Amino acid sequence: MSDRDPQPVERQLPTEEARDLLALVREIAQREIAPRAAEEEDAGRFPREIFGLLSESGLLGLPYPSEYGGGDQPYEVYLQVLEELAAARLTVGLGVSVHTLASYALATYGTKQQQVEHLPAMLGGGLLGAYCLSEPSSGSDAASLRTKAVREGDTWVIDGTKAWITHGGIADFYTVMARTGEDGPRGITAFLVPGDAPGLSGAAPEKKMGLKGSPTAQVHFDGVRVPDDRRVGEEGQGFSIALAALDSGRLGIAACAIGLAQAALDEAVRYATQRRQFGRPIADFQGLRFMIADMATQIEAGRALYLAAARLRDAGRPFAKQAAMAKLHCTDTAMKVTTDAVQILGGYGYTADFPAERYMREAKVLQIVEGTNQIQRMVIARHVAGPEGR
Ligand SMILES: Cc1cc2nc3c(=O)[nH]c(=O)nc-3n(C[C@H](O)[C@H](O)[C@H](O)COP(=O)(O)OP(=O)(O)OC[C@H]3O[C@@H](n4cnc5c(N)ncnc54)[C@H](O)[C@@H]3O)c2cc1C
Repeated sequence: MSDRDPQPVERQLPTEEARDLLALVREIAQREIAPRAAEEEDAGRFPREIFGLLSESGLLGLPYPSEYGGGDQPYEVYLQVLEELAAARLTVGLGVSVHTLASYALATYGTKQQQVEHLPAMLGGGLLGAYCLSEPSSGSDAASLRTKAVREGDTWVIDGTKAWITHGGIADFYTVMARTGEDGPRGITAFLVPGDAPGLSGAAPEKKMGLKGSPTAQVHFDGVRVPDDRRVGEEGQGFSIALAALDSGRLGIAACAIGLAQAALDEAVRYATQRRQFGRPIADFQGLRFMIADMATQIEAGRALYLAAARLRDAGRPFAKQAAMAKLHCTDTAMKVTTDAVQILGGYGYTADFPAERYMREAKVLQIVEGTNQIQRMVIARHVAGPEGR
């Protein structure tokens, strides 16, 4: 037991139901997720059974309509759930965020018939989703993607390779952006592809710096055939669907980043109040007190920023600029706070005996996924200063 356990995060939640939901999530996080995180991350083990438990507990479709098996929760509540999950283990928080991203196309642009047929299993039936936009030669410039879907009567035949796919090779469904027409953003269409479709295969997972429990892999599409009723939205609408999904997905990444940063701060405070040097706890030294104050302030600012963006979204107002700002600020905060946490733990922080070094390795990826932080700055600058080259 530490001298001083971290204070619980003070949350503003809109309803009693949301408070109960957060209490349930904290219990699952503390009982089922956090205790195994270090060992399983080290072993590169994906906790598939945790996703089964989250699905059974109604936590895999929170922001979607209950009519289709979702939780009918506003984004401000869903994101705070993600934050709690990511604080316990980033692989789980990020995995739920990616699953929600993968479900977005059908939940938002699908026909009523598609939604009735597929959404209940996706949102609460134990399925796990993946979102396939990136390719080996198109990352930030996603509109240059080359995976092709060619129409043969009522069937589409998909060929190509997607890269960096979270849950690649183990997902039950893949939301895939493929080229069906001209070069550039207008020639892209979205498809919902089942994980067991013949011709779909996952490569060996990438060997990553961190987030080792979350499989990231190339996914090959070799003559994969899907009926036209698995096309989501109109032909040529896929890129705008992909970008709309990412506006919401970036809020998920922001919330995960704040959860990770909070876990690192809590660890640093716990350690600093126990560790003694010069006859006193190191938490007494102003050099560390000021670091802790800055870490806590950056985290609160990040939480306020992602919640402000979420509340705009919940009110049906434009939120893309604020989502990019939240993703940028919260993930840069996670990088800074986790680095400072390692510093506060000194030499012990540099060892795998404490989670601080893992948090630091995990934070790095958040500055890269769902649009690098350079791309977020481009998006923000376009909103603030107008398009380039006028
Ligand atoms: C662990 C992990 C999980 C991922 N999961 C998924 C997933 O589930 N689905 C998916 O589709 N993708 C996923 N990605 C891919 C991720 O979205 C891309 O890695 C990211 O978009 C960057 O693309 P890239 O890696 O090709 O880098 P590049 O686009 O080649 O960029 C390289 C560098 O150049 C910079 N750069 C590029 N263009 C510009 C510019 N115009 N101005 C300034 N700087 C620029 C970038 O910021 C970066 O620093 C994942 C990646 C990782 C590492």
